Amino acid sequence: MPSHLLPTYARVDLAFERGEGVWLYTKEGDRYLDFTSGVAVNGLGHAHPHLVKALTEQAQKVWHVSNLYRIPEGERLADRLCQATFADFVFFQNSGAEACECAIKMARKYQSASGRPERYRIVAFEGSFHGRTLATIAAAGNKKYLDGFGPPMDGFDHVAFGDIEAVKKAIGPQTAAIMIEPVQGEGGVRSASPTFLKALRKLCDDNSLLLIFDEVQTGFARTGDLFAYQRSGIVPDVMPVAKALGGGFPVGACLATAEASKGMTPGTHGSTFGGNPLAMAVGNAVMDIMTAPGFVEKVRKTALLLKQRLAEIKDRYPSVISEVRGEGLLMGLRAVGPSGELIDELRAEKMITVGAGDNVVRLLPPLIINENEIADAVGRIDQACARLADNYSRAPKKVAS
Ligand SMILES: *Cc1c(COP(=O)(O)O)cnc(C)c1O
Repeated sequence: MPSHLLPTYARVDLAFERGEGVWLYTKEGDRYLDFTSGVAVNGLGHAHPHLVKALTEQAQKVWHVSNLYRIPEGERLADRLCQATFADFVFFQNSGAEACECAIKMARKYQSASGRPERYRIVAFEGSFHGRTLATIAAAGNKKYLDGFGPPMDGFDHVAFGDIEAVKKAIGPQTAAIMIEPVQGEGGVRSASPTFLKALRKLCDDNSLLLIFDEVQTGFARTGDLFAYQRSGIVPDVMPVAKALGGGFPVGACLATAEASKGMTPGTHGSTFGGNPLAMAVGNAVMDIMTAPGFVEKVRKTALLLKQRLAEIKDRYPSVISEVRGEGLLMGLRAVGPSGELIDELRAEKMITVGAGDNVVRLLPPLIINENEIADAVGRIDQACARLADNYSRAPKKVAS
């Protein structure tokens, strides 16, 4: 029977019935090593007992009450997020795009509340990704995602990622903010240098702009710090997060300083589902684990091990992999041939990965992956690369798209 799902995804013909830790199982009992984590969502792997317990216990109590009433679990999670970061306030949403949308609205409102209503434009970066709403596709400026959806929403000026002179030129009397992913995930696992991020901070300070870090993908220990900004030596004013915050339960949040959020007074923004008790229970459970002593240190250690092994594989198969990039457990293999071929070969090894821009294969294992599982993964990558190297040595070389 043909599927009635709107065909906006070219889905792989695989369905997983259950998961445990870093493993996913099909109905037929095939076991796959998950190096996608639902695109950086299942940071704590599948069916983590602490998360399952939090969700099922909350499900017995109350699921949803709306934001017309106090939600104690949400107040607690907001406290903890602010304790762990630069932020003073948190607005909960259901997704990354909504969190980014909130950040965009907040930047505009901040300038308006500061007596500068003419400032509504945001400087954003080529290769970025902020979600699929009309505002967030305009923010990212990716032609592929804008095509056919009418005039892009006004108010975004795009410059090359890492080009500080271009940023300076793009700032004008209407600029409200600068919005950046500290590591571009979808764009190809490209890291902004700390020097560049510091220069952005200074430009914002000098020009009364807000600095927005989109940490939807990098947040919650993915890069080896609880948040990627924490290694840059600077702090943003606004930070949308989502993905791993719920470990698989849909939830997003926009974090901000008191100053940056001063325009967001009662009635200015809202969400029916945002921050409901189920999502908040899971978010608190994720924070229990990720803020426990040693968690991020362990992620860093695992990441270093993976990075070293990947560097060896790259040296062994120069006809397959041209570069290993990334931070923490947000890694990318830049393919020599089409990246889709490497993804297919990895899937043949029962290991699932996800593509990114710039011909990159993203590796996003659950953060709880252990050393044996890393060794297992490295073996599968080696096998896939060996097969591709063999193919490439026989067949005339295809060029990366
Ligand atoms: C995934 C992602 C988003 C969008 O999140 P959704 O939950 O899909 O709306 C926004 N920004 C970044 C950096 C992302 O990786």
